[in-house]
Amino acid sequence: MNDSWASTPRNGGPVSGGHSADKTKIAIVGAGVAGLCTAKVLKQFGFDVVVYDRTPDVGGVWSVTRRYPGVMTQNNKGTYAFSDYPMPRWYPEWPTGAQVQRYLAGYVEFFGLESYLRLGTEVTSMLQDENTGRWSVSTRNVATGHAEDAWYDHVVIANGIFSDPFIPSYPGVAEFEEVGGRLCAASDFHDLDEAAGKHVLVVGYGKSACDVAEALSEVSATMTVVAREVTWKMPRKLGNMLNYKYILLTRLSEGLFEHIEQRGFGRFLTGPGRFVRDGMLGFIQRIVRRQLSLDRVGLVPEVPSSGLFATR
Ligand SMILES: Cc1cc2nc3c(=O)[nH]c(=O)nc-3n(C[C@H](O)[C@H](O)[C@H](O)COP(=O)(O)OP(=O)(O)OC[C@H]3O[C@@H](n4cnc5c(N)ncnc54)[C@H](O)[C@@H]3O)c2cc1C
Repeated sequence: MNDSWASTPRNGGPVSGGHSADKTKIAIVGAGVAGLCTAKVLKQFGFDVVVYDRTPDVGGVWSVTRRYPGVMTQNNKGTYAFSDYPMPRWYPEWPTGAQVQRYLAGYVEFFGLESYLRLGTEVTSMLQDENTGRWSVSTRNVATGHAEDAWYDHVVIANGIFSDPFIPSYPGVAEFEEVGGRLCAASDFHDLDEAAGKHVLVVGYGKSACDVAEALSEVSATMTVVAREVTWKMPRKLGNMLNYKYILLTRLSEGLFEHIEQRGFGRFLTGPGRFVRDGMLGFIQRIVRRQLSLDRVGLVPEVPSSGLFATR
């Protein structure tokens, strides 16, 4: 491991197969955070694991193939790291996409998972044998097209809810592209220079849309955002001073938002104590409104802030 990788992992080093007698074979589809930590844990329990990912690197959302200009985490680094492998101390509070990918590659190196990875390999189909319950997993090498089948006792699906971008079918796209326009998902847009001096339209007001709009506004001739609904955005530092983690990523704040199963103080805050919760959220909302000049730019959301915070 690179010395400059100054994190201090808390839970031993490379994963050695636990009880090696158990040769249960498990396939994991996806080498994002979910697939990687699943692989590490299953390996520690002594299972025979193979992790497939169609991209050439680990990281999923943070893969070089999916990083758009301006992508970084919404979470601060302390809350977007594995408990047994912290992010390096020298990382910024909100790491860039490239830094998160490097962190995850470091996780693979540290826990010795490289040999279990089958990168650049797409899982194309799976079929379960009715008698044995085992799975036949078909894969295709993305670069060569080479197809293969292998049998597994179990399959873990960790393919990510955002890994296949959805682009609505807009009328007029063919004509737009004919004259040199480009329509793409944020995750397929990698080179900011491509937009230099161009007129760009960003559809949506979520995390990717806001990140990419901010980056584009630096180089494009014009940049317009079209959104069905304007939602609340939480500044990384409330009032330009207080890291939002002290307000929204605490046990108390957990109770401010609706959950399927509300527990403890949260039950009070979303029940009889709702007025306390509304007061607290209303207070944050007022600060955000002023800090981001939402009234001046006409971006005051019509929806209440409860449950809709995302960081900017
Ligand atoms: C721009 C962006 C920023 C985000 N920021 C945050 C944040 O700050 N905090 C937070 O908590 N969450 C954030 N998220 C949510 C993010 O999805 C999760 O944090 C997490 O990265 C999801 O990990 P995952 O392993 O479930 O999925 P992914 O990271 O999407 O990984 C799934 C992997 O499966 C692979 N795959 C899919 N199908 C196949 C197949 N058929 N064969 C082979 N491989 C396949 C994909 O290539 C991909 O690598 C963000 C999401 C996006 C898009």
